[in-house]
Amino acid sequence: MFEQIKLPYEVNGLEPIIDQLTIETHYGKHHAAYTKTFNELVEKAGLTGKTAEEILSNLDSVADETLRKGLRNQGGGYYNHNLYFEAFAPVDKAKHAPTGKLAEKINETFGSFDALKEKLSALATGQFGSGWAWLCTDAEGNLSVMNTPNQDNPYSLGCGVKPILALDVWEHAYYLQYKNLRAEYVKKYFDILDWAVVEKKYEA
Ligand code: MN
Repeated sequence: MFEQIKLPYEVNGLEPIIDQLTIETHYGKHHAAYTKTFNELVEKAGLTGKTAEEILSNLDSVADETLRKGLRNQGGGYYNHNLYFEAFAPVDKAKHAPTGKLAEKINETFGSFDALKEKLSALATGQFGSGWAWLCTDAEGNLSVMNTPNQDNPYSLGCGVKPILALDVWEHAYYLQYKNLRAEYVKKYFDILDWAVVEKKYEA
């Protein structure tokens, strides 16, 4: 059984960046629904026991097209949101910049931490319609950024990289509070992103 991560903060713990109603709706309704449906589809497809990464990386092995599409969308919805919600901390507790190995690699790859934030922000605001922006790594510890539509992710698209940071730009992630101002939400997102969590994912 796949389960939503337990939020490592209170439902109002990310205010004023993300308000309680947005978390209650996004985590409590949207993410909960993706998780429930994904579990049903996994059982239907006989894939119980596989990890979400395994399922999303091997969608081609599911012959039935409707089931394959369902697993891609619902499995992405389940997996992507765990990565997203797990990486936040209250403004006064979040580690606001990476250090150590990840910081070094960011400087080497993108020039500076600010340059990485600019690249990610551009991908997030530039994603047409619903989707995500990502920071990814590979077996050699290289870093890359990308954006993807809908609930696709680097696994379901066969990119051969592991996502370590997920930035949700579906309207449900910001519309209750920021309305049409996606760029404003993207800018504020970095105030509650906890780089301690991203560093752990990178070093794992
Ligand atoms: Mn979402």
